[in-house]
Amino acid sequence: MNMEESAQSTSEGQQRYNPAELEPKWQARWDADPALYAAEGHDSAQPKFYCLEMLPYPSGQLHMGHVRNYAIGDALARFMWMRGHNVLHPMGWDAFGLPAENAALKNNSPPAEWTLANIAAMRRQMRRMGLSYDWATEVTTCLPEYYRWNQWFFLKMYERGLAYRKKSKVNWCPQCQTVLANEQVVDGRCWRHEETIVEQRDLTQWFLRITKYADELLNGLEKLDGWPEKVRTMQRNWIGRSEGALIDFKVSESAEKITVFTTRIDTIFGTTSVQLAPEYPVAKQFAAGNPALSAQIDEMLAQQKAARETGDLGAIEKHGVDTGKYALNPFSGELVPIWVANYILADYGTGAIMSVPAHDERDFDFAAKYGLPVCRVIVPNQDTETSRQLPYLAEDDSALVDSGQWTGQSCAGAQQSMAAFAKANGFGTETVTYRLKDWGVSRQRYWGTPIPMVYCTTGHADIEPGGVVPLPESALPVLLPQQVEITQQGGSPLGRVAEFVNTACPVCGGPARRETDTMDTFVDSSWYFYRYTDAKNSSAPFDSAKASYWFPIDQYIGGVEHAILHLIYSRFWTKVLRDLGMIDDDEPAARLFTQGMVIKDGAKMSKSKGNVVSPDLMIERYGADATRMYALFAAPPDRDLEWQEDGVAGISRFLARVHRLTMKYAEKLRESGAHSDATAEGGDVDEKLLRSMHQTIAKITEDFDGRWHFNTSIAAIMIYVNLLNSYELQMDNGFAGIRPQMGWVSPEVTEDVFRTLTLLLAPFAPFLAAELWEQLGGEGAVFRTAWPVADPELAREAEIEIPVQVNGKLVHVITVPAGSDEATIQAAAQADAKVTARMAGKNVVKVIVVPGKLVNIVVK
Ligand SMILES: [Zn+2]
Ligand SMILES: [Zn+2]
Repeated sequence: MNMEESAQSTSEGQQRYNPAELEPKWQARWDADPALYAAEGHDSAQPKFYCLEMLPYPSGQLHMGHVRNYAIGDALARFMWMRGHNVLHPMGWDAFGLPAENAALKNNSPPAEWTLANIAAMRRQMRRMGLSYDWATEVTTCLPEYYRWNQWFFLKMYERGLAYRKKSKVNWCPQCQTVLANEQVVDGRCWRHEETIVEQRDLTQWFLRITKYADELLNGLEKLDGWPEKVRTMQRNWIGRSEGALIDFKVSESAEKITVFTTRIDTIFGTTSVQLAPEYPVAKQFAAGNPALSAQIDEMLAQQKAARETGDLGAIEKHGVDTGKYALNPFSGELVPIWVANYILADYGTGAIMSVPAHDERDFDFAAKYGLPVCRVIVPNQDTETSRQLPYLAEDDSALVDSGQWTGQSCAGAQQSMAAFAKANGFGTETVTYRLKDWGVSRQRYWGTPIPMVYCTTGHADIEPGGVVPLPESALPVLLPQQVEITQQGGSPLGRVAEFVNTACPVCGGPARRETDTMDTFVDSSWYFYRYTDAKNSSAPFDSAKASYWFPIDQYIGGVEHAILHLIYSRFWTKVLRDLGMIDDDEPAARLFTQGMVIKDGAKMSKSKGNVVSPDLMIERYGADATRMYALFAAPPDRDLEWQEDGVAGISRFLARVHRLTMKYAEKLRESGAHSDATAEGGDVDEKLLRSMHQTIAKITEDFDGRWHFNTSIAAIMIYVNLLNSYELQMDNGFAGIRPQMGWVSPEVTEDVFRTLTLLLAPFAPFLAAELWEQLGGEGAVFRTAWPVADPELAREAEIEIPVQVNGKLVHVITVPAGSDEATIQAAAQADAKVTARMAGKNVVKVIVVPGKLVNIVVK
């Protein structure tokens, strides 16, 4: 289906609908009027509304997922303008990142050049789509005017101990040739390279202390009731808080101790072994004089590595080895054997556990496999068949047995008093552990923000030779050098740029080396939305007064794939900004919406599957309005959308019909303006059209305020247009001054219904709405015209249909005036010919009337 077929010409000489002409005409007019989509200052008399879609990576091409995301945000922004809000609707570019380096290798073009060309191309596409962005606030994260503030924040965090350097085991993607954050490893694979298994390496890295805010990040989720529950649950699980105790078990005949983490200290008398991760330091000591043990530990390490790489550590086949050593249970005074086990992880808890087979499923299986004793210390208050089985996991209504002085206490009571006892006697403490780890931000890549740190070669006062020296703020920005050879081997590309690396120590002036790693690009996106409120500020990241006016974001829209990366990092950043005194808010976004994916032939669009549909092609064939409107119409926005070109063609035909009808009556209205006295009396069909109009307004307003089911909003517009279409003759009669039997519509009402149609279309099909508004003689921009208000009186149906049953069987459906009382409905039902025929010769026993719903007549 192409434009030739989908557009209709009319017999009355109006132009046919041709988006290929109409849309660029309006785009040029909007481009020439930058104030059209500009936000007002914070002295605006209107309430503010910050409408934000997640900023894209500038790959050079918008994909359908973008189109859908932006169509949702754009409809909302236009609606809020029409509802009288001061709207901030910005756009920017998450412009650092690895693809630019890969492209540089492939095309031999510098990353900056490639990225800026892509931005220009995508900005053109966005303009062609008619998106209502205020381009004066555009943010591009790869420009020094932006990334210098990443460096500034980094220094602020360093000053406060929130940025620090340490050697640790890190995730390494051999494809990316860089470190990845834990959040960027998905099932043991790189988030960018689904095929590539992530390795573990020991490296010295910069970290941001996100764990300092772990509790706040967790508790803050309670307040975020405008966020999808799915996202909040993912964040809760990612933070992974568990309360418990740390308890020291002394190693027998040694000065060493093993600290275990347990969430069930009340079961400690049931401990029948202590189990260590293969990397646990004491395990290594035991192995030193024991080649057999040493070999088994190496094997377990290899198993863990393999399990990590297939992505499922939980499914590892559990086994362990007895070290032959013993540890002392500080509560019972018993000696228990020390094992090393392949399923205990060094980086989870303390890397050591107390094994209580009677009250833990995993421990139970392990004990069964190796014949370790099982010792029950918790019993239920009510003895039942199931409660006699082991392992017994319940805590509520249960009490301790065989547990020394704690025997008889409830589990909850014992958890408190035993932790207190351990603390008082110096062998334990209550603690909380988190799954969340500090955010590793060093990347061994070129195309990112340089980290503003140097290493002083000679050292001085407090700095040892080679020690870290932060740059002063006056040295910012540390510019990313432009001419850098990109290769994908051997460490950070910046390390090979002598002019960059070699510098002077800002404290002693002696020789120093710059940090050559760059920052994770998720740093860039952690605070970009604050910059939009003050994008041109050259003396601060943003002005606090401006940010506090616009924040929190009223509606944030993006993909659910950002649930734990960007959406946790940016919440963390917001809390740091608050602690720096730059903002008052705790949370960046009051409401979050995650749209579904766009799929084709049942699968996510991807080059490898060959099922990618290009937005450019759709726009070329059907126009931007039809493409956008289809993206909103084909599915509720939170569900996946199966792209079907037939559907876009259908929307295009619908818009052509709207165009034809509206243009026809716009012309008649212009002509009739000269003899308007002909239109003074009301048409006999007016009421019907006005009722449909007010119902449609109510429906769409409700959808915007409620569940965002734009698919049903657009369906309501279609029903409305069908009705207008079916009264074309009556509208013509109104203009012609003819008053035939079939009825007529007064020209005022015709004008009203078409103006309203145009306003209702404005959020969904902005180009066509702008054109029709002008044709109808509307003043100013249609997007700045007040959204129509539904009149419930006029929207009310005049008549309603009510099914009538006799003895529970449907006989007929009668029509009564809306709002009729019981007696009127009953009388109408009993007077109906079909109903009386069915009741002939019988006595009425009872009549049940459910007003507005049903009449049931019981006869005998
Ligand atoms: Zn990778
Ligand atoms: Zn120095």
